[in-house]
Amino acid sequence: MIYADNAATTKMSETAINAMLPYMNEIYGNPSSLYSFGQQAKEELEKARTRVAACLGCDPKEITFTSGGSEADNQAIFTAAKYGERKGKKHIISTAFEHHAVLHTLERLKKQGFEITLLDVHKNGVIDPSQVAEAIREDTCLVTIMYANNEIGTIQPIEEIGKICREKNVLFHTDAVQAAGHLHINVKEQNIDMLSLSAHKFHGPKGIGVLYAKRGIILDTLINGGAQERGKRAGTENLPAIMGMAAALEEACAGIDNYSEKLTALRDRLIEGLDKIPYGELNGDREKRLPGNVNFCFEGIEGESLLLLLDDKGICASSGSACTSGSLDPSHVLLAIGRPHEVAHGSLRLTIGEDTTEEDIDYMIEAVTEVVTYLRNMSPFWRDLTTGKRTHVFAK
Ligand SMILES: *Cc1c(COP(=O)(O)O)cnc(C)c1O
Repeated sequence: MIYADNAATTKMSETAINAMLPYMNEIYGNPSSLYSFGQQAKEELEKARTRVAACLGCDPKEITFTSGGSEADNQAIFTAAKYGERKGKKHIISTAFEHHAVLHTLERLKKQGFEITLLDVHKNGVIDPSQVAEAIREDTCLVTIMYANNEIGTIQPIEEIGKICREKNVLFHTDAVQAAGHLHINVKEQNIDMLSLSAHKFHGPKGIGVLYAKRGIILDTLINGGAQERGKRAGTENLPAIMGMAAALEEACAGIDNYSEKLTALRDRLIEGLDKIPYGELNGDREKRLPGNVNFCFEGIEGESLLLLLDDKGICASSGSACTSGSLDPSHVLLAIGRPHEVAHGSLRLTIGEDTTEEDIDYMIEAVTEVVTYLRNMSPFWRDLTTGKRTHVFAK
């Protein structure tokens, strides 16, 4: 099997698994318990917080552990909204291609009277910082823009965006779930006020994440109960997962430069191979993209059928985000970069990882080329294109 869906989730690293084990059956005390066995767990918890903070360039007090990326996104946005509400500022700026954890939270706020501006992400899927500067108003309380897109892998100029937000005194949150472990993060240098992470996207366990919030920001609580996480996130801490996440993050961050060079070369080989398929096009900027992300649209095919046939050939791929597959709506990300509906339906995302080899790349190119040809030969839609009844979207 070739696993080419690392944007959906990743295999846990041995380091992360081994880091978790002792916290299941040896140091299993509750960090809130007063006896020393519980306090030992508490100490390890705080050490993990310090290690995570070091990877992000912040203070441990600025780290809150959450159940994952979705929760961190929700908490960051609701926190900013609460601040805004208090000051009569009910305008939020984001983009049309955020993850649904952001977009659906913003929709909720819209129902509560917030006004949301979604910036155009252009054909290449990259925001221009000047768009943010122009969109900020007197009543803007938050700018939330992802670091790297989960479907098309495009990387946003978050440092510049953060700088503009600082100057205009507006909170800046970034969903860095796809960036962590692939791109360097330093919240201070990058002018970030709040940032979300999820361990299962960088070879850590599922169900654990981080919300960084700059000192001074008082988080709004989503989960109410005990005083864990300094009162900002109730519930007994998932210590095994936190230890696994800390180890995975350190490992991923230490390996970024080496790993990203290797991955970029493989990614480019895959892009070049798939680019030879006629009437297809790469989605998202060719350069400003994650090292492991390849996303194409092919005319005259249906993404779902493509995935099933690739599955028969032992390839795990995606047609977009895991959250939208299964629904028949085309990806909101592909629509946001201006792909027409009929083309957005024919998308393929391959996200490679550390285990991917050159042979895997060549096999994937061969398999995708074969399956696309096969599907087109059966498609009445494709016949209309070849007979001129419909016009092509792509030039060749
Ligand atoms: C996966 C993902 C999330 C959600 O993270 P979970 O830990 O699965 O809740 C949020 N944002 C982006 C960009 C993602 O890729």
